[in-house]
Amino acid sequence: MPERTTVTILGATGSIGRSTLELLRTHKDKFRITALAAGSGAGALCELAREFQPRFVALADKSKYHELHNGLEGTTAAFDCGDHAVTDAASLDADITICAITGIAGLSSTLAAIRRGKTVAIANKESLVCAGKLIMDAAKEHGTTLLPLDSEHNALFQIYDPAKIDDVTALTLTASGGPFRTWDAARIAAATPAQAVAHPNWSMGAKISVDSATLMNKGLELIEAACLFPQAAAMLKVVVHPQSVIHGMVSYRDGNVVAAMSQPDMKIPISYTLGWPNRLESMAKPLDLTKLSGLTFEEADTTRFPCLRLAQEVLASGNPAAPIVLNAANEIAVAAFLDSHLPLMGIPALVEEALQLETPIRPASITDVMTIDEGTRAWATHNLKRFAA
Ligand code: NAD
Ligand code: MG
Repeated sequence: MPERTTVTILGATGSIGRSTLELLRTHKDKFRITALAAGSGAGALCELAREFQPRFVALADKSKYHELHNGLEGTTAAFDCGDHAVTDAASLDADITICAITGIAGLSSTLAAIRRGKTVAIANKESLVCAGKLIMDAAKEHGTTLLPLDSEHNALFQIYDPAKIDDVTALTLTASGGPFRTWDAARIAAATPAQAVAHPNWSMGAKISVDSATLMNKGLELIEAACLFPQAAAMLKVVVHPQSVIHGMVSYRDGNVVAAMSQPDMKIPISYTLGWPNRLESMAKPLDLTKLSGLTFEEADTTRFPCLRLAQEVLASGNPAAPIVLNAANEIAVAAFLDSHLPLMGIPALVEEALQLETPIRPASITDVMTIDEGTRAWATHNLKRFAA
């Protein structure tokens, strides 16, 4: 049997992690797991470890050590708890690492994986938003292949040739518009967490689902794209496309537009990164254009969805501290919204005020990034109540 490709999954119990494991389950002859890491779901992680028999299991939550210990009985996996354990998992030698932790919590493990100089598939967009230049520089320094896993960026990666930059006039990311696309402002303002996480096309973790409902997700993705495709940053555009069949488009100066299409199923971009540079069966439903009722497009409305405007302003400002502030304030606001401590429109209100604060540090290292992140979180947590009414 040929040598199998080794894979580590950071964020194994989440939506992207589980979709990755679903693919690995059907391609057992091609892949084996090196390490699995998660945040706090010890039971779910142990169950996956018993099935996939990784060498190492890491859980960020230290208080679950005994649960992890007991749950791994009968397996040969080494294990540990704490943030350092997640970074240790990322540092083990695997051919491909899937970075699918939510939020800036995924930054240090993403960087640890990149420093190994192999292949890193990055779903954890918040890392790129906050430390894009540091990540891209580290990938270059260590000869790491960085593959975008976010569907729009994965689509653009497949159709954009940086060598043809002189011919390119636009790189377009599509947005589904989220569950509130057709809602008026008053209804959006009264939206509940359950309504926000009920995405029409994609099934995702709670945080990214709220980001999709506020269009902050598309804003973060614009900043993510500017890191991944720096040559084309000035040409980045967003268009709302409710069917989520076209994920990305490259426009050329002769009028040609090349679009990448697929079913809205994350197993497709994940399988692209697992198979790269070859193709792998994704088990996704084939795309039958004759069965679609139509493909429609509209402009994004930044009045009803101010989070997108805020992210666009951050990107245009060129201030490298601003994306970190945007992300940190948004993470605190989204968590508060999900806990029913903040109304939906409290999210852009809190983020906008955070962006007006002075950030004297220009982030040149991960320590700088974390200092800005922690300062913003402390401010946002302290000021949350003012936005709760
Ligand atoms: P999720 O909430 O379903 O899963 C998150 C995973 O990260 C879980 O395994 C959780 O245990 C783990 N985790 C959380 N905090 C952690 C910590 N401190 N240390 C270690 N592990 C931790 O989220 P998701 O929807 O799978 O999204 C993951 C990332 O991928 C996000 O950055 C998201 O923006 C991005 N992404 C997701 C999708 C999607 O369809 N779900 C699409 C594109 C990009
Ligand atoms: Mg996306």
